[in-house]
Amino acid sequence: MPENMERVPLLEIEGLKKYYPIEAGISKKKIGEVKAVDNINLTVYKNEVLGVVGESGCGKTTLGRTVLRIIEPTAGKVKFHFDDKEVDFTALDKKELRKMRRYLQMIFQNPYTSLNPRMTIFDIVAEPMRLGGGFTEDEISERVKTLINKVGLEVKHLNRYPHAFSGGQRQRIGIARALVMDPKFVVADEAVSALDVSIQAQILNLLKELKDENNLTYMFIAHNLSVVEHVSDRVCVMYLGRVVEMAETEELFYHPKHPYTEALLSAIPVADPTVENNRIMLPGEVGNAANLPSGCCFHPRCKYACEECKTKVPELRELTPGHFAACHRIEDLKLEGIGELKVKNSSKS
Ligand code: SF4
Repeated sequence: MPENMERVPLLEIEGLKKYYPIEAGISKKKIGEVKAVDNINLTVYKNEVLGVVGESGCGKTTLGRTVLRIIEPTAGKVKFHFDDKEVDFTALDKKELRKMRRYLQMIFQNPYTSLNPRMTIFDIVAEPMRLGGGFTEDEISERVKTLINKVGLEVKHLNRYPHAFSGGQRQRIGIARALVMDPKFVVADEAVSALDVSIQAQILNLLKELKDENNLTYMFIAHNLSVVEHVSDRVCVMYLGRVVEMAETEELFYHPKHPYTEALLSAIPVADPTVENNRIMLPGEVGNAANLPSGCCFHPRCKYACEECKTKVPELRELTPGHFAACHRIEDLKLEGIGELKVKNSSKS
């Protein structure tokens, strides 16, 4: 988002939860629940890219899908602001939801499985317009051709089937389909992670261009922090279904306030084989969302954990304007951002 642009909320997420029941026996008695998304509160501003990062199982994909109601939330609200109207997206019935879908789209992770192999590219891209209704075939044809050119493919490709395309081309088709209804908000879920590095850069640049041309707002979900740094205005770090840190991208990368963010930053690969890796090795796996650790749920893996961390859940606090973190020891820890890591690396090379 340009620095001098006023921040206008597009989406407000309030107390969003997605819990999956754990059932046992023939009677399917509920014996517990998996807290995939646990009480998320955040705002996404118009025309920004909010990166969402964390290891597999941290709840980032569930968050994206719950926001779009591809998965129904257990509790909480998602409010969208369009044309000076506020819409409680979580309260819409099926008919109203279908009408609103055009404004909210998703780009899926795997370009090999997200496109129907029996449909032509034209039909794949046109499908949301046909399902949404209200367009003539001429209007659909015009829009599909415009979009397919915008994503760098040619009109002659429209009669072909997905198997005739590479991974990068398929992701371009997925992007054209997501944008065909002129959405306001797009969730890109690991949109480049299945692609080769050189193709990743092309798709990221394409997403950036399309954002500027179409005034789009993205929630960009990824586990690769280099990719997130490249595209995001702000970054939200998730661990076990909760937000543990959120800040402007540069602030978060250079001045992390949460030990988990510090560990993720230390794991960013350095493109120099002579440089020793400063990676902070986190012991064990991401915890079990069905049986969250007491207190700070990161404490079993945190090298800074103290007694308080084992019993008391840290609140997400605003430390400086726009920089939030949930840790009891923020004030007494000196964490390393990518600035310190670069200095360490250059002194070892
Ligand atoms: Fe580590 Fe304690 Fe902070 Fe949690 S609250 S991140 S365990 S120092």
